[in-house]
Amino acid sequence: MSFAALGLIEPLLVTLNALDYQTPTPVQKEAIPAVLKGRDLLAAAQTGTGKTAGFALPLLQRLTQQGPQVASNSVRALVLVPTRELAEQVQQSLLAYGQNLPLRCYAVYGGVSINPQMMKLRKGIDILVATPGRLLDLYRQNAVRFEQLQALVLDEADRMLDLGFARELDELFCALPKKRQTLLFSATFSDAIRAMAKELLRNPLSIEVSPRNAAAKSVKQWLIPVDKKRKAELFLHLLAQQRWGQVLVFAKTRKGVDALVEELLAEGVSADAIHGDKPQPSRLRALERFKAGEVQILVATDVAARGLDIHDLPQVVNFDLPIVAEDYVHRIGRTGRAGATGEAISLVCADEVDQLAAIETLIGQVLQRRDEPDFIPDHRVPLTAPGGAILKKPKKPKQKLVPGSGASAGGKGNIHLGRWFEGDDNKPKVKAVRQVPKLGGGGAKAGGKLGGKPAGKKPR
Ligand code: AMP
Repeated sequence: MSFAALGLIEPLLVTLNALDYQTPTPVQKEAIPAVLKGRDLLAAAQTGTGKTAGFALPLLQRLTQQGPQVASNSVRALVLVPTRELAEQVQQSLLAYGQNLPLRCYAVYGGVSINPQMMKLRKGIDILVATPGRLLDLYRQNAVRFEQLQALVLDEADRMLDLGFARELDELFCALPKKRQTLLFSATFSDAIRAMAKELLRNPLSIEVSPRNAAAKSVKQWLIPVDKKRKAELFLHLLAQQRWGQVLVFAKTRKGVDALVEELLAEGVSADAIHGDKPQPSRLRALERFKAGEVQILVATDVAARGLDIHDLPQVVNFDLPIVAEDYVHRIGRTGRAGATGEAISLVCADEVDQLAAIETLIGQVLQRRDEPDFIPDHRVPLTAPGGAILKKPKKPKQKLVPGSGASAGGKGNIHLGRWFEGDDNKPKVKAVRQVPKLGGGGAKAGGKLGGKPAGKKPR
């Protein structure tokens, strides 16, 4: 099937030809004709399957063909996104797809000065891409009006809720005209999203082009068990041994990102960081440098996971597993995009077994383990099984320590097992002489609460 068969107009077909988009992807095949007809949409699309063009192309066409010219400070279509990076990326896509159309597209997000955004909005914008917090600021300052709004797109809606934007979204929804077209896109669907869809959408067409919460099939995934303190060493080892080219690496915290970048730079590997503490211009610069191939390794927190579109990225490495299982799908969706093959490798330590089990439940598969001979962990990563089960190692019987029996118990600096039993009556004589960490692993607990808020600064 061709794009022409979907009913797209000539200027868009010329652009798609120039971009070398030859055939529509499955989500585009379903979404484009429906959106052109004015239908609401509820779309669960695999990451990297072309969903941006799925809503951008028909919206650009409808706005070109219908409706009055945009008035001052007004917008005709609004695309709400969770992160600054995604806002930039959707804006770039709109500019690319709309290059032969007489429409104005623009993106607003927090972390940068609001004044230039207010100036730009004065002329009116046909398609505005925005993060909810900054849009609300602009709305409250009368810099943006919604009377002319014809269409609302919620992109990565689940992520907006994860990032705590529910209140801002509610306030914005109240400010929008009730009569409009609404398109809701999300890679993963929670019950909260389905409830939101029920409230916002009118007789929507539901599109589910991939199994729920699945990652692209073209991505090979596996994990390497490793002790936490040896992760950086293992990463450097893999980088050299596997002769990796560019790698996108995800770490849990901003501090973790900076520490790894520092370590890589010290080893002479070119690396840069993207996380919520960095000012927006430096985040964009890091991404541009990575895209241009000037930097080999880009290390990011999950804040960056959704917005990055990097062509032919062969490797994604989870230096830490994400706290929120859904983020795993988004992270590894940065590779294997638009049919390319990719690899997603997770470096997993014993502490992360709960996160691992949650991810495996979500994606419906147990990740293959590949031991790296020189990096077999001292702290064993408990085995997992389908359905999120964690197979704990059978506990060893408790060791009895009897003073004077040869077992060391009491001298300064000695290691104690916490409880010290004497003889046969099994009553503790000395309680918790000196607590020491369990040696030998087995059943280590994950620190983070699953389903909690991901690290990263909320864009405003
Ligand atoms: P998205 O899922 O919207 O982030 O798109 C993923 C990538 O696929 C982007 O790099 C797009 O430029 C690319 N893409 C989208 N649609 C097509 C298509 N029909 N043919 C080739 N590439 C596409």
